[in-house]
Amino acid sequence: MASAAQDPAREFIPRTIDPDDERAFMDAIEKWVEGEVKPVVMEHDHGDIWPEKLVHQMAEMGLFGATIGQEYGGLGLPATTYAKIVTYVSSYWMALTGIFNSHLIMAAAVERFGTEEQRQEWLPKFASGEIRGGLALTEPNAGTDLQAIRTVATRDGDDYVINGTKTWISNGIKGSCFALLVKTDPKADPRYKGMSLMIAPKGEGFTVGKKFEKLGYKGIDSAELMFDNYRIPAKNLIGGVEGHGFFQATGGLELGRINVAARGVGLAKGSLRLATEYAQLRETMGKPICEHQAIQLKLGEMVTRARASELLTMDAAETYDRGERCDMQAGMAKFFASESAVRNSEEAMRIYGGYAYSKEYEIERYYRDALLMCIGEGTNEMQRMIISKQWVKQNPA
Ligand SMILES: Cc1cc2nc3c(=O)[nH]c(=O)nc-3n(C[C@H](O)[C@H](O)[C@H](O)COP(=O)(O)OP(=O)(O)OC[C@H]3O[C@@H](n4cnc5c(N)ncnc54)[C@H](O)[C@@H]3O)c2cc1C
Repeated sequence: MASAAQDPAREFIPRTIDPDDERAFMDAIEKWVEGEVKPVVMEHDHGDIWPEKLVHQMAEMGLFGATIGQEYGGLGLPATTYAKIVTYVSSYWMALTGIFNSHLIMAAAVERFGTEEQRQEWLPKFASGEIRGGLALTEPNAGTDLQAIRTVATRDGDDYVINGTKTWISNGIKGSCFALLVKTDPKADPRYKGMSLMIAPKGEGFTVGKKFEKLGYKGIDSAELMFDNYRIPAKNLIGGVEGHGFFQATGGLELGRINVAARGVGLAKGSLRLATEYAQLRETMGKPICEHQAIQLKLGEMVTRARASELLTMDAAETYDRGERCDMQAGMAKFFASESAVRNSEEAMRIYGGYAYSKEYEIERYYRDALLMCIGEGTNEMQRMIISKQWVKQNPA
């Protein structure tokens, strides 16, 4: 068995973008959201319908290659620009961003930790959207405690044979390839040393269970993936060395946490936008409700939370773009922005009064979608522990 002695991560190349290019790209995104996304959100959300047309449009705009390097056919956007895109789209329909977010985390694992041969083979197809997928880490018995996974990959000649089950996998039905976390040495101690990450395209022995019915996050498919003597070539082991999977999967989560933070910012800002409009139109006691102090207190807190979330998220994205360690910044952004999304959507529900409870209004979707942001890419309980550990480490007594 290969040793896990060295960090196989590719040297980080800092990314920047010309402000004019970024503005042009954001203009295109805003036009697309206005013309194509906004008119169909309610129908897709209420019917839990996968947005096929929007997915094709996202591929045409290059979103499936947004953070993939230009040398591999992607747009090579810095995390800051990417966070702005995710924030904007999420302020109208958060679930839509899950279709390219999870895919790009898979791509980031291959780009950061894969061999050059793997990058050449997979990244151009990921970037074009020809192959789309996501990240398959969670198992029925292992979410937060990823080291408890039971999916096992056994070396057999030039192949690995994989058996096990993954659950809650975003894009599980519509996607065709996943970054799959497995145990290559189930007896390893510490446990993380026996974990590897594989590029797993759908094929014989890889089946998909039923689509999960969810509270929110509609339109995007979440499903169970089953592996029964599923065989892949050994060259699909990311980085080509066993034992690095835990580090590769959690390393990718830094970008994932910035993404979730940006989604939280989008939900917090979207809830604020809707509440601000409504509070000026709805009148009680002869004046718009935004002139009542009780509503002013809510709006004042909401706008502050939205702005603080955005600044924390940009701080994490800028740190990531400089190639510096950013687990603490990404954790703070993810924690604060997701909690802000929950609080802002709840306050917006109260500002809407009884109408919040009607499916004819959009605000209830923000309320249903926001809670997921506290769970994905590491629960907020864990985020606070990560932040605290890093903080204490940086401040020895
Ligand atoms: C809609 C949706 C989409 C998802 N998409 C994906 C995906 O694409 N890929 C994927 O791999 N996974 C995905 N997940 C799974 C998600 O990452 C897990 O649900 C999450 O990591 C939490 O794991 P768990 O549900 O097993 O909760 P558990 O790990 O069982 O945690 C339960 C509770 O205990 C707390 N807890 C656990 N351990 C500790 C501890 N040590 N200290 C303090 N508190 C602790 C948690 O914070 C939580 O409050 C998705 C989940 C959902 C709901």
